[in-house]
Amino acid sequence: MIELPKSKVMIVGAGIAGLMIAHRLAQYGLHPTVVEASEKIAAGATIRNQGWLHAGTIHAQSIADPNLSTRVAQRCMYGHDYFRRFCPEAVENPTIPSLAVTLSEERIPEIIDRWEEAGVAFRPITRRSLETRCPAILSQNVAASWIVKDLTIDSRVVCSRLAVAIQRDGGCVFTRCRIGKLRLGDASFESYGVEYKLSPAFVIVAAGHWTNEILTTHWNMTVAMRFWKSHLLVTRRVPGAAVFAVDDGEAGIVHHGDRSVAGMTGDNVLCLEPSNEVDQAEAEKIRAALSRLIAIPTDAPVVPFACTKVDIVDQASSIRNLDVEVVNVSQNVLAVFPGKMTEAPFLADIVAREVVEALNGITTNDRPIDSIKVGAPVVAAL
Ligand SMILES: Cc1cc2nc3c(=O)[nH]c(=O)nc-3n(C[C@H](O)[C@H](O)[C@H](O)COP(=O)(O)OP(=O)(O)OC[C@H]3O[C@@H](n4cnc5c(N)ncnc54)[C@H](O)[C@@H]3O)c2cc1C
Repeated sequence: MIELPKSKVMIVGAGIAGLMIAHRLAQYGLHPTVVEASEKIAAGATIRNQGWLHAGTIHAQSIADPNLSTRVAQRCMYGHDYFRRFCPEAVENPTIPSLAVTLSEERIPEIIDRWEEAGVAFRPITRRSLETRCPAILSQNVAASWIVKDLTIDSRVVCSRLAVAIQRDGGCVFTRCRIGKLRLGDASFESYGVEYKLSPAFVIVAAGHWTNEILTTHWNMTVAMRFWKSHLLVTRRVPGAAVFAVDDGEAGIVHHGDRSVAGMTGDNVLCLEPSNEVDQAEAEKIRAALSRLIAIPTDAPVVPFACTKVDIVDQASSIRNLDVEVVNVSQNVLAVFPGKMTEAPFLADIVAREVVEALNGITTNDRPIDSIKVGAPVVAAL
């Protein structure tokens, strides 16, 4: 049995959430230990997603609640800038600006209002410029087009850079782990036949759609998690820029090396349990949306695959909750959900603050402005 005496925080799951949080905690000198069940890091949604490094463009105008849409968009902008700085080599096609389009003339004023409200960067382009930048676009269907900041990233590169940074800063990342005990002050796991033991003062469960299995086994509880299946289509690389229609039910396509990957806004089917099995009828809807946006050569294979997203709800709702979620399982035990990969840096900041305050025992006094009662917000008459 090998002891890890310095490690005060144990993180279960080496997807983008677990790795990003561990990276932050390692920077704070807390020697986090990340345990991953799979042989390799990032075995969940992080590696099966579209690899879209959002810049707020979609969420600022696609989420009905304007407050939530601005919040999600701004977190995406924060995460976007963070990942670009942290790991520029993960950005695919950095010199080709991405394009956003709408197929709906009617929506143009609303889209622009929402982007301006959230601070999303956009620049209108002409139809001619759109066709030059993306020769396969079906421009006759497009009502307006813009250059936007969104990028495509290789999530494997980001995860491996995070793992290296964690280890450089004194943390550990173990793969093929089987957890034995998972208690504050008493945790153990086995990795490649070696037993490890540590005394965590904080535990973070960042296990994506497996979270409730861990919570049931070790805390005899579950969180109100829902599963949403989404599909992506992979095809031969389409020349030109990444382009996405911002309208609900329309397609977007990004490029990874010699492949292009298409998805559809709002493609979330509520399901009872997580599964990566393709539902052909759902995949067909994305094909139909893609055929309104891009001309795919008839001889190019268009292959679907699926993955499950999760959200946390405190009341029944038919809409997927895109909020970052941090659930208090018990004192100094959190279950965390990033909402989107791009939001992981924001999630890591709030979790790190909580962990550091709990472990260092140093908290900040309230400012006078925090305790003064100010009553209801004043609504200006327009
Ligand atoms: C189809 C699809 C497309 C998406 N596209 C995008 C996109 O383009 N851009 C974007 O920003 N977001 C996108 N998302 C959302 C994003 O991928 C997820 O929000 C994010 O990856 C979730 O990360 P995570 O670390 O919470 O979970 P995961 O990536 O699922 O990681 C959980 C990890 O926990 C490990 N684990 C599970 N059980 C155990 C255990 N018992 N012990 C140890 N480890 C365990 C798993 O092996 C896994 O590695 C997409 C999601 C889907 C499904």
